[in-house]
Amino acid sequence: MLNVCYLSTGRGEAGGAMACAGCEKPILDKFLLHVLERAWHAACVRCADCRAPLADKCYSRDNKLFCRNDFFRRYGTKCSGCGHGISPSDLVRKAREKVFHLNCFTCLVCRKQLSTGEELYVLDDNKFICKEDYLAGKAPTHCK
Ligand SMILES: [Zn+2]
Ligand SMILES: [Zn+2]
Ligand SMILES: [Zn+2]
Ligand SMILES: [Zn+2]
Repeated sequence: MLNVCYLSTGRGEAGGAMACAGCEKPILDKFLLHVLERAWHAACVRCADCRAPLADKCYSRDNKLFCRNDFFRRYGTKCSGCGHGISPSDLVRKAREKVFHLNCFTCLVCRKQLSTGEELYVLDDNKFICKEDYLAGKAPTHCK
């Protein structure tokens, strides 16, 4: 589920200051931002994880704002190898309906990175072994 929200700029109201949805302090600035139908200090519209200021578009969950990468890292597809989220900038490999970080798609024995076209053997659904190691009999014995 994607919660994309767009930022829009508004003018602060003289006198009747609104509370910022981020820090809950009144907004006395001339300009403020509207996100999630609430008012924010421009400086408070930051990614909750990396603190990067967010421009025109961001992602939200539980009233927190995230940049695209951190949002996907937290809530996006999980890598079947390491269990961490996959962000749109990560390189991935797909195997048997599962998605892996490039770095997690490696031979169990020699740790070399496997490529999609390469002949490989799958153990326990999310472990891989390259052909050479398999033929050399290095696969763990409980996996047939
Ligand atoms: Zn604030
Ligand atoms: Zn971030
Ligand atoms: Zn991974
Ligand atoms: Zn290997």
